[in-house]
Amino acid sequence: MNLAESSKLYQELAEHLRGLKAQGLLRERRILESPQGAHVRVDSKDYLAFCSNDYLGLANHPKLIKAASDGALQYGVGSGASHLLTGHIAVHHELEERLARFVGLPRALLFSTGYMANIGVVTALTSRQDAVFADRLNHASLNDAALLSRAKLQRYPHLDLDALKKLLANSRARRKLITTDAVFSMDGDIAPVPELAALCERFDAWLLLDDAHGFGVLGKQGRGTLSHFDIASPRTIYMATLGKAAGVFGAFVAGAPEIVETLIQRSRSYIYTTATPALLAHTLLASLELVRQEDRRRERLAQLIGHLKKNLHLISSWKLLPSVTPIQPLIIGGNDAAVMVSEGLRNRGILAPAIRPPTVPQGSARLRISLSAAHSVEDVQRLLDALHELERKA
Ligand SMILES: *Cc1c(COP(=O)(O)O)cnc(C)c1O
Repeated sequence: MNLAESSKLYQELAEHLRGLKAQGLLRERRILESPQGAHVRVDSKDYLAFCSNDYLGLANHPKLIKAASDGALQYGVGSGASHLLTGHIAVHHELEERLARFVGLPRALLFSTGYMANIGVVTALTSRQDAVFADRLNHASLNDAALLSRAKLQRYPHLDLDALKKLLANSRARRKLITTDAVFSMDGDIAPVPELAALCERFDAWLLLDDAHGFGVLGKQGRGTLSHFDIASPRTIYMATLGKAAGVFGAFVAGAPEIVETLIQRSRSYIYTTATPALLAHTLLASLELVRQEDRRRERLAQLIGHLKKNLHLISSWKLLPSVTPIQPLIIGGNDAAVMVSEGLRNRGILAPAIRPPTVPQGSARLRISLSAAHSVEDVQRLLDALHELERKA
């Protein structure tokens, strides 16, 4: 490659970046100077933060910090190899057994991240002759997984079971896999899992349920969305992440033994990667205990959600979506308006991100407020007062 060609490549990139900046779409990372929590430090200023997925407030819990340090002393830092070589340590195995029992499924398999878990499941179970049916608002990792699998990707409008039924009825695919967020990450609403499971029965399909935002939060003792609906279907493949409510890092897939064994044989994002450090598995055992035992964290969350919904009195077209989960999106509408509300909060010492298209549909730019058991009622009231003030000025 000569210099002229390479500089043209760089010119294109620079132009693209300038374009993003001009449209106000250039994404920049905020640099935290504190641990994750309800209160964080950014640019030497303290903020009240409504933007993490640390729903139970465990990310910085003293018991988990202690477990992580004990884990490092016991297992060292790196796992040194992939699970299929010598990276699968007894504590990983114990965690898998506990997770399976916790969510009420026969077996579980740890993955390094939820992104990799979704890629691993869809690519191991489907290929060219197959079809993946996906809710339009699914997380990006589920869509990427379907593309990588080379199965036919058929997206249906958000929660539109009639549309899904038609697609299933007309499909001649060898295998059919429905993929859905259990709790949608930008809307906070819950997928109709019993109805989806019934469609799976009727059309001989599998359901991959991504419970990144339900695990730890919904269901008895935080056992997740399957427990929330009190449903057990052998057609369900359950995926949950461990870096959100569980406060640590990682993910797992649970389901029938044949599924988990197939993933061990065929999931490239499981096979060709270094095992998660054992110290994290050790920490997750402690986290799972807190998730299971401390109902008061979920009770606090419910109290905060109730306080927000009851006391937000809107006079404009701003609208809180009807979510019962800690994800409480406030629809503003226009992109610039959403950014202005987010900026206005920031000027008042509060962080809540503006989410714009293409992450959400056109015209539905929003503030994604996420609540955590680490917040107090006073914290939520401070947010409410700031929102009321901003709305009057808008
Ligand atoms: C966060 C998230 C993931 C990815 O999980 P990571 O462990 O962060 O890679 C997958 N699906 C959904 C719905 C998520 O919100």
